Amino acid sequence: MFNLRSIDVNVDNQTAWVQTGATLGDVYYRIAEKSRNLGYPAGVCHTVGVGGLFSGGGHGFLTRKYGLASDNIIDARIVDVNGRILNRKSMGEDLFWAIRGAGAADKLNEDLFIRITIEPDSANRTINAVFQSMYLGGVDKLLQLMEQSFPELGLKKKDCIQMSWIESVLYFNGLPNDKGLEVLLERNQPKTFYKAKSDYVKEPISETVLEGIWKRFHNVEIPMMVLFPYGGKMKEISKYETPYPHREGNIYVIQYIVYWTTRDGATEKRINWIKELYSYMTPYVSKSPREAYVNYRDLDLGTNKNGHTNY
Ligand SMILES: Cc1cc2nc3c(=O)[nH]c(=O)nc-3n(C[C@H](O)[C@H](O)[C@H](O)COP(=O)(O)OP(=O)(O)OC[C@H]3O[C@@H](n4cnc5c(N)ncnc54)[C@H](O)[C@@H]3O)c2cc1C
Repeated sequence: MFNLRSIDVNVDNQTAWVQTGATLGDVYYRIAEKSRNLGYPAGVCHTVGVGGLFSGGGHGFLTRKYGLASDNIIDARIVDVNGRILNRKSMGEDLFWAIRGAGAADKLNEDLFIRITIEPDSANRTINAVFQSMYLGGVDKLLQLMEQSFPELGLKKKDCIQMSWIESVLYFNGLPNDKGLEVLLERNQPKTFYKAKSDYVKEPISETVLEGIWKRFHNVEIPMMVLFPYGGKMKEISKYETPYPHREGNIYVIQYIVYWTTRDGATEKRINWIKELYSYMTPYVSKSPREAYVNYRDLDLGTNKNGHTNY
């Protein structure tokens, strides 16, 4: 699908046709090329592909305000097994439903998104939690909101940067903002290995349980945990409206990740480490069933046809 990446943005209708081999960087770039006031609620990393992200849900910094990437799909053109090209009307509402998703701060104002990234600071044997936030409005209103909802973070005007949505895409990807938007069109991924697992959280997790996670974070190199808030638009959409079911009742989704760079004894150690952490979290996350995000592929949750395990 790599070469099928054309994107046609219609500013007047606020819609776009996007080919499935485009990356999110392509989508964000083409929108910004035509308008600095429009955006699209999809994933954070610009090198991720539209085909998989849109068909599995797709959450990002605009999700609390506008829902998932798949919630904002109003039509699609697909090829069926007989080679017919179908659109929403000719595929019917059942199939259109299926292609949109089968693949910690939830009560805040929906204009505010706060993602927490947690990593160990090994030198000091402490834990760093970074509150990456985006507010869809001006700084003064944000300061008032934070004073009401999160006074303990002590947010000051000097901590905030005002920017357009497309500049925020560069910012959250750690990309330079003086080299033009073309950096969004680059498709290189770092060559590292990682294993990730995910959980949905429905009840607040106590500090004692968090302490148990921090202890484990010091037993392995390069672990990370991302808490991705839900609520807002996500709880207004019924869990039956698309195949993506994780809606009302979820405070946030956790992604646990561990990285490594060489294929040797490191692999087994990392895999065992993340499995043990996942087992420790069992009582504190969604149950019966224990839910996971389909796009955070986790082969432990299914069986490979050939019985092999790939990471
Ligand atoms: C670095 C990184 C960051 C991420 N960040 C986010 C994030 O912020 N938010 C989020 O929601 N998810 C995120 N993800 C998860 C992401 O949603 C999934 O990895 C997704 O599957 C990526 O889709 P792809 O098209 O790039 O991958 P692919 O491996 O190409 O596709 C994934 C699956 O979709 C199928 N598929 C792709 N295109 C089509 C098509 N046209 N028709 C039918 N099937 C198709 C493929 O067969 C495959 O099974 C991230 C992943 C990575 C690696």
